[in-house]
Amino acid sequence: MAIERTFSMIKPDATARNLTGAITQMLEEAGLRVVASRRVWMSQRQAEAFYAVHKERPFFGELTEFMSSGPTVVQVLEGENAIAKNREVMGATNPADAAEGTIRKRFANSIGENSVHGSDAPETAAEEIAFWFAGCDVVG
Ligand code: GDP
Repeated sequence: MAIERTFSMIKPDATARNLTGAITQMLEEAGLRVVASRRVWMSQRQAEAFYAVHKERPFFGELTEFMSSGPTVVQVLEGENAIAKNREVMGATNPADAAEGTIRKRFANSIGENSVHGSDAPETAAEEIAFWFAGCDVVG
């Protein structure tokens, strides 16, 4: 499997509880390298643009309000099979369904306030990285 890059966010529920370091450590221990990182407080408009794929979902308003409620850490992660590896260490969307040892099992508050985001495919990873970072910001 080739070296891949994926996009990750540490969500406002986690930054509020000062979990940036603990979550980043779990990502690094899973073999992922942080090759870009920035703390941002996104606007609701930015959250709506980033999550546009979910705009017809009933939770869209709740999701974009939450994502703009506090600081987020946006990151690019690099490693072997990085997209799937990140999804594995994140755990299921709903923490009630998340496996032991995953970030969401350990830290998520609820299905909405679930501490982390991770791209689900190579195309979305490329789009999401480009949404938040210029090429020169990513240093592998
Ligand atoms: P993910 O890829 O595991 O993050 O899950 P999805 O792509 O299905 O959903 C994107 C995000 O929307 C999730 O991480 C949650 O923050 C949020 N979300 C998903 N389902 C719900 C829901 O039923 N209620 C609320 N409030 N938020 C949800």
